[in-house]
Amino acid sequence: MQPRNLERASSELVKVCHLAYERGYICGTEGNFSLRLDDRTLLTTPAGTCKGLLSPSDLVLTNLDGVALDSPQNQGKRPSSELKMHLIVYQKRADVMAVAHTHPTTAVAFTVAGKSLNRCVLPEAILTLGKIAEAPYATPSTDEVPQSIAEHLEHTDTILLSHHGALTFGSDIFQAFYRLETLEHQAKTLLIAQLLGGEKTLSQGQVEKLFAICQIYGMTPPTNRDELIEAGTN
Ligand SMILES: [Zn+2]
Repeated sequence: MQPRNLERASSELVKVCHLAYERGYICGTEGNFSLRLDDRTLLTTPAGTCKGLLSPSDLVLTNLDGVALDSPQNQGKRPSSELKMHLIVYQKRADVMAVAHTHPTTAVAFTVAGKSLNRCVLPEAILTLGKIAEAPYATPSTDEVPQSIAEHLEHTDTILLSHHGALTFGSDIFQAFYRLETLEHQAKTLLIAQLLGGEKTLSQGQVEKLFAICQIYGMTPPTNRDELIEAGTN
């Protein structure tokens, strides 16, 4: 890959950290974000810091095993213990350039309640997220987490971690953030619809039509579209 400019990449990563904090997708010192800087190097958020207050000099450089590099940028800082789940995404998906791990309240509440977000109600969410993968609960920061998501990585760019958070990824850190934003928007819309008496999904035909014309929006149908139609329409 073409190596990224450190200053530009740091600016983008910090911008997304601030947006995620301000929009309430993480609180306190929660969440972690990373991107590929070149074939051997990741740029990531440091452990134990509020992402709403982060500046480019706080970021940490690691190798693809998550080990902090001996670099003037690092100065004793260490990456998040949750970086493990980012590493397995980069190992299994050569196309992924950036990963966001967050704790969006409404989407996580659906996992706490044991309710699925895979309901075909919003065209944007259907096309952006496809079928959202749901990984079983795993103890945060342990090897259980990468193990719990491994089987899903081939089929999706959006994974919900039960009773914990979300993992979204993409071709850059903004795409990873937009997927997170769409995920939480889907969750809020479904929650309100359920408070109002329950959602009425689009029909199978309406969803298939959406996939048939989605190139108009510059999008391609998700690979798991059939599974989404089966799970998400009445
Ligand atoms: Zn977490």
